[in-house]
Amino acid sequence: MKYALVTGGSRGIGRAVSIKLAQMGYYVIINFQRNEEEANKTLALIRENGSDGELMKFDVGSKSEIESILGAWVETNKDKVIEVLVNNAGIRKDNLMMMMPDTDWDTVLRTNLDSFFYVTKAILQNMVAKRYGRIVNVVSLSGIKGLPGQVNYSASKAGVIGASKALAQEVGRRGVTVNCVAPGFIKTDMTEAIDPTLYRNIIPMQRFGEAEEVAAIVGFLASKEASYITGEVIHVNGGLHT
Ligand code: NAP
Repeated sequence: MKYALVTGGSRGIGRAVSIKLAQMGYYVIINFQRNEEEANKTLALIRENGSDGELMKFDVGSKSEIESILGAWVETNKDKVIEVLVNNAGIRKDNLMMMMPDTDWDTVLRTNLDSFFYVTKAILQNMVAKRYGRIVNVVSLSGIKGLPGQVNYSASKAGVIGASKALAQEVGRRGVTVNCVAPGFIKTDMTEAIDPTLYRNIIPMQRFGEAEEVAAIVGFLASKEASYITGEVIHVNGGLHT
């Protein structure tokens, strides 16, 4: 079987990506932090789509959990190389910078940016050794344009974009691609509190996107067909600022 790891696979974009990868024949390792019930729903959907998977609970913002849980899986499953990694788990804690507690800066940077470094590091060596790998990082329009109230979130996503472009150049000759997908407003729990009608006039497509519309491009970038695309950022935002 071909193995894929999706961080934050229990809900939203991560769930849609997990299903897409299942349809592509991947065994999907579903990472989540708290919501085991939702993670199990994702697993059931993966099975309904003809594949299989497993849950892997760890905090992507914790270096020690990544090493002890993901690291241990890699160590004990030497015959199973994860060839697709989707760094999707992310959070936002919005506030004007002047009012932003230091902890909200730290938590968002740790969860959205440090996670890229430690999760990717745990499995990159095997991809390089196999001379094949697809790394797709879910970033945000906020990391490109910058959005007021999101100094922490914008910094974390811009950081992942810079890191992805650098890593793409390090591992390109080894058959490993590293790309980013930057959603605009997508209908998930993260945007539940935002009224889409308020944005109708500024989004050219006049609606929020669906998680499946993000998963479609993640799936393509994770496929063999995307073999000559690396270091890119693909926007999925209905025409809203690029
Ligand atoms: P969501 O519906 O809030 O789901 C977040 C997912 O991330 C859940 O599976 C959650 O797990 C997991 N997660 C959160 N913190 C984690 C941690 N510390 N360790 C492990 N897993 C963790 O979010 P979403 O809208 O699908 O967002 C997915 C990605 O897209 C994020 O990186 C987000 O920044 C990005 N994005 C979203 C939008 C949008 O409009 N929705 C726009 C731009 C970018 P639990 O279920 O266990 O909590």
